[in-house]
Amino acid sequence: MKKNAGLYIHIPFCLQKCNYCDFFSVKAGRFKDILSGPISPFVLRLTDDITIQAAKYGISEWDTVYIGGGTPSLLSPYDIYYLSSQIIDAQKNPPKEFTVEINPEDLAEDFLSAAVKGGVNRFSVGIQSLNDEVLSACKRRGGRKMSLSALELLRTQKNLMLSCDLIAGLNNQTSAILKDDIETLLTFKPEHFSLYALCSNTKISDEKDDEIAELWNYGKDILEKNSYNKYEVSNFSYKNLYKSIHNEKYWRLENYIGVGPGAFGSIFFDKESLSASVNTDVHLHAQANVFALRFSAIKNIEKWMTLQNRDEVYEYETVNEKEFIEEAFMMGLRLTDGIDRPFFKSRFGTDITAFAGNTISKWLNKKAVVLTEEKFYLTENGFLYLNLFLRDLFQEIDTLF
Ligand code: SF4
Repeated sequence: MKKNAGLYIHIPFCLQKCNYCDFFSVKAGRFKDILSGPISPFVLRLTDDITIQAAKYGISEWDTVYIGGGTPSLLSPYDIYYLSSQIIDAQKNPPKEFTVEINPEDLAEDFLSAAVKGGVNRFSVGIQSLNDEVLSACKRRGGRKMSLSALELLRTQKNLMLSCDLIAGLNNQTSAILKDDIETLLTFKPEHFSLYALCSNTKISDEKDDEIAELWNYGKDILEKNSYNKYEVSNFSYKNLYKSIHNEKYWRLENYIGVGPGAFGSIFFDKESLSASVNTDVHLHAQANVFALRFSAIKNIEKWMTLQNRDEVYEYETVNEKEFIEEAFMMGLRLTDGIDRPFFKSRFGTDITAFAGNTISKWLNKKAVVLTEEKFYLTENGFLYLNLFLRDLFQEIDTLF
């Protein structure tokens, strides 16, 4: 059966590595040969892979597209136009949301015009901070002046839909700096903000952890006072009108395909259609208890470019029913709206209370969760206990499998 899905495209090139960044990226200078040309070999490979993946998983249309990185704005205007217009021309309906990530320091007007002409309708701008001292402490190129002129171009001149990314907890960042950052950005009236609490692979002291949480809460309060509703752990939408439809697919465990070195994808199966789907749509790792197939593209640019058998570009992992249920709770409860009960039932064949009845009762008594006919979600206070709630929940689920 044909279906819609989200498409994530990873452009893993950066001019320089920022010291807080865990995303897969390589220095663009080493790959000039595959990034040049009227249409670059890298982008030609991407468009081929998009077609191959759509056919393999029975995707009729991409209802959301997200080009992230790395630094997508390092692509040439020809490349961004070719990539986006190829996707749109291949389907009957345009995607509901088509986002490109922008690094303000690399943004050129011809890139932007080409992206808009190709069909991109949303720009996610990696500001992180507007303070030059904070940016140089984390080895981030660019600075306040470049960010403001990128916003000026995106918003004031072109009036494009904007999401701004900020990080709370960077070195040398104070609450006054964060306040100034947010208030300056508010003058551009972005539709959406992502405010991330700094996380790191290296151990952070408890003291630093508290500092980051305090700073993040301070930023959250300013956004909420300005009508940005928090709808996910780190995401805020103006009057709840501009949630990221693509990112919601990750939290709601809907299908998405990743293309490009280091990209991820997941295909999920409903209980009712499970046996049919596994055997007809996906010929990989099909087992009776497979509820989802997860895959990640190799993080090796040369191999990714040259492998002839495109199945070999990906590593595959299957997800069984128990893991899938645990994940549905972990991801769904990140959303302020929480888990959609009818959707959960269509996925797993039974209501959430069949897996989590005892845990839900216990936490209802503590007023940390809310259960209605349609939804199950954490209260604002309940968010503080998410880890404890999940511990109880996983123990209960363990008794059922
Ligand atoms: S520019 Fe973005 S993707 Fe590249 S290293 Fe910095 S944070 Fe990571």
